[in-house]
Amino acid sequence: MSTLSAERASNFGIGIQVTDFSNVKLVSSAEAQIRAYYETLYSAWGPQHWWPAHSRFEVIVGAYLTQNTSWTNVDIALRRLREAKLLNLAGIRKVSLARLQNLIRPAGYFRQKAARLKTFIRFVEQRYGGSLTRLFAQPTPSLREELLALNGIGPETADSILLYAGQHPVFVVDTYTRRILERHGLTSAKASYDQVRELCEAALKNVVSPTLPLELKYALAHRPTPLSRTHRTPIAQVYNDMHGLIVNVGKQYCLKSKPRCEQCPLQKYLPRTPIAP
Ligand code: SF4
Repeated sequence: MSTLSAERASNFGIGIQVTDFSNVKLVSSAEAQIRAYYETLYSAWGPQHWWPAHSRFEVIVGAYLTQNTSWTNVDIALRRLREAKLLNLAGIRKVSLARLQNLIRPAGYFRQKAARLKTFIRFVEQRYGGSLTRLFAQPTPSLREELLALNGIGPETADSILLYAGQHPVFVVDTYTRRILERHGLTSAKASYDQVRELCEAALKNVVSPTLPLELKYALAHRPTPLSRTHRTPIAQVYNDMHGLIVNVGKQYCLKSKPRCEQCPLQKYLPRTPIAP
């Protein structure tokens, strides 16, 4: 058994499926299950066209604003910025802090979020001459570290910016991901963000998306935007779609209380023991 697989398994308290082929990479049962979830959900719901934005900068602002609030509120704040013609780097730099706070007020924590957006703009201007292209040309690990060092950027926000604005191959772990994996006994509540992320990345990194009929329309997918159709590597595409698919499971079925397992496409993977509410 590889050290990595054993270590990962013990971190998550899961069983290991040992395959005794000397030239075959061993995979934990958790990784195999997550791959199966992707295949099941992608076959049912197709490409998800995340993130529903028209520009990289809009993704970044949305990633800040969505902290501790619903997307409906974020949408209102983004619309107000767009109507004020401020949904761009120069716009956020020039606008006064007071006006920015007022415009994003519907997203909540508006003073904190306005200050953090200003900090991000200063960072891009001082370090990358105001160029998002230069910013996203950095290697993933070092850019992730730089983002995490900024005030107000935790791992989920950093990874959302990397994956959805920069097309970097990182998996975004959100509340829905944790809830689903915990209810299926694949991770524990004690697992860190990075442990869950690394598990999902290991599970999905070699996945090939099933071929789907082109004419099919998927009711749960976002409408395509220029950004959702932009070029990305196959692995970034899989991480992108898997996060959107998980969000659909979380919103439609895996509710915080009273999950709707009977109708959920992942029901066949549920462990036999009853799930925690
Ligand atoms: S709703 Fe039930 S079957 Fe679906 S992901 Fe949640 S726990 Fe699993």
